[in-house]
Amino acid sequence: MNRNVLVLNSGSSSLKYAVVEADSGNTRSDGIVERIGDSEVADYAAALQVVFERLADDMANLVAVGHRVVHGGPDIFAPTLVDDALVAKIEQLSPLAPLHNPPALQGIEVARRALPQLPHIAVFDTAFFHDLPPAAAMYAIDRDVAERWDVRRYGFHGTSHEYVSQQAAEFLGAPLDSLRQIVLHLGNGASASAIVGGRPVDTSMGLTPMEGLVMGTRSGDIDPGVLVYLWRTAGMSVEDIENMLNRNSGVRGLGGEIDFRVLHQRIDAGDAKACQAYDVYIHRLRKYIGAYLAVLGGADVIVFTAGVGENDAAVRRDALSGMAPLGIELDEQLNAEPNGTIRRISAETSPTTVLVVPTDEELAIARACVDLIEQ
Ligand code: ADP
Repeated sequence: MNRNVLVLNSGSSSLKYAVVEADSGNTRSDGIVERIGDSEVADYAAALQVVFERLADDMANLVAVGHRVVHGGPDIFAPTLVDDALVAKIEQLSPLAPLHNPPALQGIEVARRALPQLPHIAVFDTAFFHDLPPAAAMYAIDRDVAERWDVRRYGFHGTSHEYVSQQAAEFLGAPLDSLRQIVLHLGNGASASAIVGGRPVDTSMGLTPMEGLVMGTRSGDIDPGVLVYLWRTAGMSVEDIENMLNRNSGVRGLGGEIDFRVLHQRIDAGDAKACQAYDVYIHRLRKYIGAYLAVLGGADVIVFTAGVGENDAAVRRDALSGMAPLGIELDEQLNAEPNGTIRRISAETSPTTVLVVPTDEELAIARACVDLIEQ
């Protein structure tokens, strides 16, 4: 009998779902319900009903419901069985992730009510980075303030960074603990990590998923002085600033477009703003690659994953061009071939192997759920 896990990822106005066969790794069905809060899908309960209708037969043999939760704060990191105490804890963490944890909680609440007979398991985006070395995890700010308010670098997309780094080792037939890896998760959200022997030693996202790389709509790194200046001088409220940094920055803020396929069309048509957005995106990405090469003392593997990383050959080429002196040489032909499977794109002579590894956060969450209920 297949052991199927329903994986739910509740966003601010969308509910992504998948039914995954944990043993075979096959996805039986997946999709997204969007515009929650609009007239057709009033709330999360209504969205879940839509999911149930779509899944129908695929709801058989469910052994657990896995919930992606973005922020686990300082104390929660392992996949955890949801009970009232955990719900209360995630609620307490909402100030640390005001845009992400409240919708996840709503998703958990309605799913627990709808499927009370199944174990519900929360899997945290921060988990993989829980043991980041202090040198990477700490901000150099007043220690008392940081401790009082749990201000540290938590890291996100952990499920993906962990999954693709394991896949990379498997693909290369190399023990995970022998590899120094740089993982570039480039989707709408984007983050980089430096991994030694399967454990992360640095990552680009911090207290919130806003730090680091330039993203679809988020700024990534910014001088903290900008926030103070805009608040004090430009008359922007905290909400205005948060909204701008999350929704109207990044590639959209600079180039007016979030989708890289369209961005490339605009660049080809000579759109100067689209060109600048792309250049800023690539420049930041190269800076992080350079930083992590220094942190690791050289990389054995560089992995590209997520929507942009898996599909955009130009981004991969431009992120790594001119790095032969650092031991990184792409095979331009392998890089340019569209191909949805795990593959090498570096030249055979390249000391650093460059891979494209499709991520599968739903599968990783499903496996974490099965592991937990088997304990
Ligand atoms: P999310 O962070 O929402 O999970 P994804 O990892 O699905 O994001 O990435 C979505 C992004 O991937 C899109 O916004 C788009 O920019 C990019 N993308 C998807 N397909 C392609 C493609 N064929 N070429 C270039 N970029 C693509």
